[in-house]
Amino acid sequence: MLDVFDRCRLHDDFQPVADLGAYPYYRAVQDRLPTGEVIIDGRVLVTAGSNDYLGLSADPRLKEAACRATLRLGTGTAGSRLVNGSLSLHEELETRLAAFLGQEAAMVTSTGFLANMALGALAGPRDTVLADLLIHASLIDSVRAGGARLRRYRHNDMDHLGRLLDACDPAAAGLIVSEGMFSTTGTLCDLPGIAKLARRHGVRVVLDGAHDVGLLGAGGRGAAEHYGLESAVDLHTVAFSKCFGTTGGAVAGPEQIILYLRHHARSMVFSAALSPACTAAALAALDVIETEPERRHRALAAAARLRADLSGLGFQTGTSETPIIPVHAGDIVLCCRLWAELFHEGVFTTAMVPPSVPEGRALIRVSTTALHTDAQLDRIATAFAAAGRRLGLIP
Ligand code: PMP
Repeated sequence: MLDVFDRCRLHDDFQPVADLGAYPYYRAVQDRLPTGEVIIDGRVLVTAGSNDYLGLSADPRLKEAACRATLRLGTGTAGSRLVNGSLSLHEELETRLAAFLGQEAAMVTSTGFLANMALGALAGPRDTVLADLLIHASLIDSVRAGGARLRRYRHNDMDHLGRLLDACDPAAAGLIVSEGMFSTTGTLCDLPGIAKLARRHGVRVVLDGAHDVGLLGAGGRGAAEHYGLESAVDLHTVAFSKCFGTTGGAVAGPEQIILYLRHHARSMVFSAALSPACTAAALAALDVIETEPERRHRALAAAARLRADLSGLGFQTGTSETPIIPVHAGDIVLCCRLWAELFHEGVFTTAMVPPSVPEGRALIRVSTTALHTDAQLDRIATAFAAAGRRLGLIP
């Protein structure tokens, strides 16, 4: 037989990048500074690609909550929620999250990825899931795991979604799945359009709020609140790895559905419960999200300033109005070279290449956080100017 190990090679496109010494992945961070900077290879770099939008991962209140929970409850949960892993701390977080998101109930999972995977328990082989072309891998995997038919509509294209819905079997069940704020482009989903089509066709709406819950909307409840359409979201998923400054995730929705998922979602039943430290940190983050709106205002204002600077320099920065600023490079090698030049200039960014983005659409994902100072934003823009000129990307 063939040996599966023979197939385990990096994507061919990465070889020229590795040859140039520009391979961007797995650069080990030695330390994270409270200023939002990182130390890599002994150098202090400004981070411009983190999901820590509110700057909470280094917040003393979260760290103290995590330490206290560890001292009281230990470092692990030793089992899944269904058997021996449930803590009253999980239940407290679930009650708080459900109230925060305006849903009846919530269930906490060990990662945001696993929160989305839980959706696989909802749609089966006879059902259809209609999903935006740019949705996260975890949502695609969950649909595949459940065996439903997956139909993708072009990014935010409501005419396309409408046509796909028209072609669905009315005797089957349907779900529309979108991210609130898309993780690679920073664009907001067209929730008003989705809500209208969902009502017309009698299908449920699932919104992945991984990047926007905590960040958008007057109360930080995400893209749904931003649009005043919280009631149009049937199930809302959350990842604690972004605005909540820790790890973990949650699904919020009607009580009966959450109860069903607790017993049927394989990612819930067969995976150990979230650690005491992360659960307590998420609770502390929720306190901050509810009481310190200035953090999200700062992250958004910093993005507006940096976006204006980067597009003024001549970079293609797309249409986002959120803290995610995609700087389009197109080709994988060019994108990785840009990443390496920025690294050399003292700025740590994220290179997004296929399969994270469609072929030919590689980009540097720049994101701002509440911690960025104006001086750091200027340093990022100056680094882009130097790197972009060296590579001939800008005049
Ligand atoms: N949804 C989206 C849109 C994401 O970007 C991510 C992670 N990048 C996840 C879900 C998974 O979250 P986590 O990393 O917390 O597992």
